[in-house]
Amino acid sequence: MRHHATKPAATAFLFAIAANHAFAIDVVFIPTGPVPPGAAAVLTDAEIYLEGLLPDPITIQINVSFFDGAGAVANPTTVVFDYPTFRAALIADMDADDWIHNFLPHAAVPSLVPPAGATAQVHQVSVPAALARAVGLPAPILAGAISVGDDLDTDLTDGIGIPMLDAVVHEVGHLLGFAAYSIDVPGHAGRQSPLDLFRFPANDGVNDANPDTPLEFSSRPRTLTNNSPAGGHVIDVGSADLPMHTGTPTQASHLVIVDFQTTGVMAAIFQGRTFSPTFFRTNDLAILDAIGWDLADACAPADLSPPFGTLDFLDVLVFIASFEGANPRIDRAEPFGVIDFSDVLAFLTTFADGCP
Ligand SMILES: [Zn+2]
Repeated sequence: MRHHATKPAATAFLFAIAANHAFAIDVVFIPTGPVPPGAAAVLTDAEIYLEGLLPDPITIQINVSFFDGAGAVANPTTVVFDYPTFRAALIADMDADDWIHNFLPHAAVPSLVPPAGATAQVHQVSVPAALARAVGLPAPILAGAISVGDDLDTDLTDGIGIPMLDAVVHEVGHLLGFAAYSIDVPGHAGRQSPLDLFRFPANDGVNDANPDTPLEFSSRPRTLTNNSPAGGHVIDVGSADLPMHTGTPTQASHLVIVDFQTTGVMAAIFQGRTFSPTFFRTNDLAILDAIGWDLADACAPADLSPPFGTLDFLDVLVFIASFEGANPRIDRAEPFGVIDFSDVLAFLTTFADGCP
């Protein structure tokens, strides 16, 4: 089918460049006030790490201040969008391994809202500016500010204290979209965050609250209620339920530690250890990928099986098994919600196009 491809050579060339990350994010830290010894080098290391990780071709600026003490905080710039606007941008920006986004609710988001966890329809999303830009929506170039304690340890190697580099990457993670505004931050009540579009009760309870199928993912209410239900919260990225903190006692914008290979720097506590050189790990990356960052392992929608970055017979085998099992992962063509011949055609087309 390759001779039917009409993709212009220039477009293919641009895709090839993008795949090499030549069009990567540009992170600009803007320190304000006095910078403690060693901190400038830490910011440079954080910039190199983030620019090597995120291929989204945008620039973000981050104000950095230092305070006398330990710990760190992030204060994102946020932009409010109508939910359908954000949903459309997220779907238009889907990368090669994204699929669950097609099953996000359409016009409004059923949500369990405080104080009693009643179901309400939520119509707006508070979006961190950096993530809004990543999915092509208008937003300020200033992603926000982080404040970094000057007691944090600029030496990664001694195993003492909290490494400043881990803390900086963690706080930038909040600016990138690890943000549960309705639960953690006053002033955002009644709005979703991109993260919370994927947040469900961990357990089914009496209402079958945790989605088992893509259609349940469409219709089951997201939870925006601090520390409720009692069984905890998960972020459902389609392929897995990732355990999250619930707001009390730990902010809901953090992953619960599964183990230190699976859960990286977006866990709440990392005293005395560094995640260097891979700060974001499996679950952190799965969430960044889901909320709109271009972090696919796959090179194309047809790249269904490892080794990723190449289309081969293993991808065909996975497609056949997925077709027989009606796995929504291969539901890439309308009508969505049913695996049919249009999905076979979509697979064959992207397989024939090859990796960019
Ligand atoms: Zn945090």
